[in-house]
Amino acid sequence: MSLQIKQIPCLSDNYGYLVHDPLSGETISIDSPDAGAILDALAEEGWTLTQIWNTHHHWDHAGGNAELAQKTGCTICAPKNEHVTIPDANRYIAEGDEVKLGAFTARVLDTPGHTLGHICYVFDEQNIAFVGDTLFSLGCGRVFEGTPEQMWESLAALKTLPGETLIHPAHEYTADNARFALTIEPGNADLQARVAAISALREKNQPTVPMRLDLEKKTNPFLRPDSAAIRAQLKAGAASDSAVFAQIRALKDSF
Ligand SMILES: [Zn+2]
Repeated sequence: MSLQIKQIPCLSDNYGYLVHDPLSGETISIDSPDAGAILDALAEEGWTLTQIWNTHHHWDHAGGNAELAQKTGCTICAPKNEHVTIPDANRYIAEGDEVKLGAFTARVLDTPGHTLGHICYVFDEQNIAFVGDTLFSLGCGRVFEGTPEQMWESLAALKTLPGETLIHPAHEYTADNARFALTIEPGNADLQARVAAISALREKNQPTVPMRLDLEKKTNPFLRPDSAAIRAQLKAGAASDSAVFAQIRALKDSF
């Protein structure tokens, strides 16, 4: 049997995710954006929460930890480098650690940049990744605590996952990201086609995520600082990928 994933739209534009293993009966919540919405989703499925896996300390990711732990008795895994900001975890984890959901295993990746301790969870055998606020559909997280160089290294690490990996980000920012992406790489035919598909989904109020990594690599400007078209557009010459990424991120910050 495979993992079952329930996507929970909550707050203004967050997605919570419940991941359920029918064999063991275990259920994890990726982050805890909205305890009420997560408890409702659990009740709807008849699932019992056994763990929370936090990606980073922001309130719309860890703010529901205490209420969910109190009401369900679940345990909490949180980033090692955010132990001060997430003081209520049972286990602190970092790159190289593994976490278990029944017989399924996820690998922890350190992805600093958005926050210094941000981590992602990758189920390698299932090609499923939960990336918090590191990578978005056609976008990436703002660099709040780390440097653009760190954020670029984090995205570059995610880029090495197999193309069929289904990326699960924590926000629905795609329509806004699409408008920006077109200003960075207006001639990208894959991007144009994707933007049309995204508009159709959003008109029906449908989620645009999860998304496949291979399509993201063809269309997301933040994963494409090596693109000749983007370099020409930005007059970036032979700058490093990291420097071109920083330029794109700065443009998006004021978009
Ligand atoms: Zn965040």
